[in-house]
Amino acid sequence: MTHGIVMYTTGGPEVLTWTEITLPRLKRNEVRVRHTAVGVNYIDVYDRTGLYARPLPSGLGREAAGVVEELGSGVTSVAVGDRVAYVLSTPGSYAEVRHVPADRLVKLPASISDEQAAAMMLKGLTAQYLLRRTCKVRKGEQILVHAAAGGVGLLLCQWANALGAEVIGVVSSDAKAALARADGAHEVIVTSREDLVTRVRELTRGKGVSIVYDAVGQDTFFPSLDCLRRLGMMVSYGNASGPVAPFSVAELAKRGSLFVTRPSLFDYIATRAELNRCSRELFDVVERGVVKIQIGQRYPLANAAQAHRDLEGRLTTGQTVLTI
Ligand code: NDP
Repeated sequence: MTHGIVMYTTGGPEVLTWTEITLPRLKRNEVRVRHTAVGVNYIDVYDRTGLYARPLPSGLGREAAGVVEELGSGVTSVAVGDRVAYVLSTPGSYAEVRHVPADRLVKLPASISDEQAAAMMLKGLTAQYLLRRTCKVRKGEQILVHAAAGGVGLLLCQWANALGAEVIGVVSSDAKAALARADGAHEVIVTSREDLVTRVRELTRGKGVSIVYDAVGQDTFFPSLDCLRRLGMMVSYGNASGPVAPFSVAELAKRGSLFVTRPSLFDYIATRAELNRCSRELFDVVERGVVKIQIGQRYPLANAAQAHRDLEGRLTTGQTVLTI
């Protein structure tokens, strides 16, 4: 018998229920992982509210780190006792133990702690593909990063700075602005007292930025388009304020033949080779100290509901983990 968070209905954080769980037998090519730390992501909020619809009852959480406890038949890539981490497209990580397909596990180097790994698989691999694959961020180009003091945001600021980009962060408060600056944002726009588009035009001498990373969604989509230069790229990768409403593609022509993409991590790590390549690159920048994984807040696993309240209330910064 083990424990985890189960939701029997969608709704507010109160639907997260700490429950006894009976795991089925391990299937072929599956591994039983005893979690030591679990990552919290905004996507967990979408799963909880039903924005991303799931059959119920359902577990929650997409990433965790832990120790291999038992192997299903056919597994040779890991051994009992290995330290591992994973990110999965299906929820269920808010639990003491989870069965994970062996080909989705990444072995952890000694230099990366369990907490760091739990905090960085989903958000770090996201930063990797956004900066290195969706767009290849180049030295000297001006880019805009929304929610710059958030989990993905702080990683984007650090990594893009290291790639030589000029990073303009967007945050809601001065305290968050200080964090984004400390992590590599060259300029930070505080939306509670500055107009986003006016300020971006000032900072880019009227031209606009070449890429916008926008995971706020509904509230910022059009202002973000207005921040782009001719032929600029809008990367709309999330919906913290709600999903982006349907729009006419003519809006892109009007603003200078813009590009828009709505990417998802799971399409960028669909194959084992892609997962290996992306994880290696992520581990490398973390091991070299180019990107620091900063745990902004921790909550006991059973109190995941409070983590959700704080995340949705814009009270968290950097990475959030559930401790076991
Ligand atoms: P964050 O730590 O960034 O938390 C969300 C932040 O969004 C808040 O702190 C807040 O920062 C900002 N925000 C702006 N408007 C709102 C609002 N109305 N309600 C709540 N927050 C708001 O979360 P994560 O790092 O976990 O995720 C960031 C985003 O990236 C999410 O939208 C997530 O869905 C997306 N994502 C997408 C992936 C993909 O592959 N497509 C993969 C991983 C994440 P502030 O107060 O400064 O405005």
